[in-house]
Parts: sequence; structure tokens; C-alpha cells
Amino acid sequence: MDDCIFCKIIKGEIPSKKIYEDDEFLAFHDITPQAPVHFLVIPKRHIKNIMETESADSGLLGRLLVKAQELAQAQGCSEKGARFVINCKAHGGQTVDHLHCHVLGGRTLHWPPG
Ligand code: C5P
Repeated sequence: MDDCIFCKIIKGEIPSKKIYEDDEFLAFHDITPQAPVHFLVIPKRHIKNIMETESADSGLLGRLLVKAQELAQAQGCSEKGARFVINCKAHGGQTVDHLHCHVLGGRTLHWPPG
């Protein structure tokens, strides 16, 4: 998508602090970190949000979560864990309309979220 910030990051048109990339996914540190560890894992295919997925996307979504947890461990969250968050649309607090999984760790996070 031409006007999508994350598609521009994937294409290298906007810089990011990349931590992982393969044919299917990109992971990079969040530009406004909310915890000592805060990165995003995104599919390279432009999917607007989690509600735009269907059963044919099960494999991609499964691989995305496995990659997110592998990277969380690589970022030092093995022992104390992390939070994996997918915001969706306005009520979910989604501000970038390209599916992404937040991974937050490195401190105790509160629950419920605000
Ligand atoms: O879930 P939500 O859509 O609110 O999250 C989008 C995230 O993308 C924000 O945490 C924001 O800081 C991050 N972002 C980024 N780099 C950009 C633009 C947004 O890491 N260039």
C-alpha cells in the first residue's frame, strides 16, 4: 500500500531499527518504546488488521506469533516473559493500519490496560 508507513519501512523508504527480517516478516524496535523491550513484528504482506484475516491466513498468523516469541527470547525476555499485543481498529487503539504484533518486556506490565 503506497500510503502505509509500515509498507514504507518494509521497502526501506522510512528508516527503522530492524531486528529481524525474512521473506514473510519484519521486526523492528518501536519508535516510541513503552518498555525496555518493545518491538513490532509485521507481515510483509499488507493486511490492515487482525479482523481482515481469515482461515487461509492461519499459517501466517501462527508463524508470526512463533517468530514474536523467538525474538522476545532473543531480546532477553526468556526468564521473566513478555506481553504480545495486537491492537485492532479505533477501540483497540490501533494507529497504524498494517497488522502488527507488539512485544513488550523488560519490566512488569500492568493489567488491565487503560
Ligand atoms: O498498535 P498501534 O497501531 O497503536 O501501534 C503502532 C506502533 O507503531 C506505535 O507503538 C508506534 O510507536 C509505532 N511506530 C513505529 N515506527 C513508526 C511509526 C509508528 O515504531 N515509523
